[in-house]
Amino acid sequence: VTTPLRDFDPYAAVLLDLDGTIYTEDHPLPGAVDLIRRLLREGRKFACLSTWSPRQLTARMARMGVRIEPERIYTAAAAAADFVLQHFPDDRSPRVLNVANEGFHELLDGKVIWVTGEDEPCDVVVCAALTSVFATEERLRLALTILRRRGNQPKDQSKATMLLGMCADRVYPSPRGIEFGSGAMTMLLSYASAVEPVFTGKPEAVFFQELCGRLGVEPRECLLIGDNLESDIRGAKRVGMRTLLTLTGVTRAEDLAGLPENQRPDGVVEDLTGLV
Ligand SMILES: [Mg+2]
Repeated sequence: VTTPLRDFDPYAAVLLDLDGTIYTEDHPLPGAVDLIRRLLREGRKFACLSTWSPRQLTARMARMGVRIEPERIYTAAAAAADFVLQHFPDDRSPRVLNVANEGFHELLDGKVIWVTGEDEPCDVVVCAALTSVFATEERLRLALTILRRRGNQPKDQSKATMLLGMCADRVYPSPRGIEFGSGAMTMLLSYASAVEPVFTGKPEAVFFQELCGRLGVEPRECLLIGDNLESDIRGAKRVGMRTLLTLTGVTRAEDLAGLPENQRPDGVVEDLTGLV
């Protein structure tokens, strides 16, 4: 266990994964609450990375005794929304079919044109896990019809519709067992329509780049603290961030054995108590 990253002065921002790093279920992990208090006390620029909506999360964190403003929480939905607003031409609003969720709708309502019918032009179909009224069978059918329309007109790129998946996860755990992940649902639409998807959640470079854009910092100036070698450490390393792995989540110490140098975190801690 190495902790050369205890001093945060060299970093313009600290990025914290939440699930498995800060909390598990409804319990804060050792050192987590004190670490967040330290970041607040020292006036550090920091952001929390999550798949939950900021509103759900602030409530959850409050129950654990930590006050975090929703603005500090960056989600896959926020990265997708930032991407949609920046990716399409400036002279008109992007035309979007949301088969993702309410969080995404809230982020872009009033800023885009929502597509509701198969005859309407559509720039992008946005997909996530099947957790909301935006992902009904009827709406997924509409998404498929629109994506196939593009597939049928490969030469006319002005009518091309992008398929954007929030995360590339296959499954996620739930009280019922496992559920189809955002990535699995996106691949369902992708396979049926023969349209290659773009993903904007962790560990995609675009996720970390959009977040740094919001914070006004460069990726190489950031320290990321997370529990997942794939989505946190590899993703962050790819854009040049320094990385600290905590062993409170999905990664075990033995997972580090034999890991190629370019996938190794810069530091490893048992939990966050060493950082406070
Ligand atoms: Mg995690």
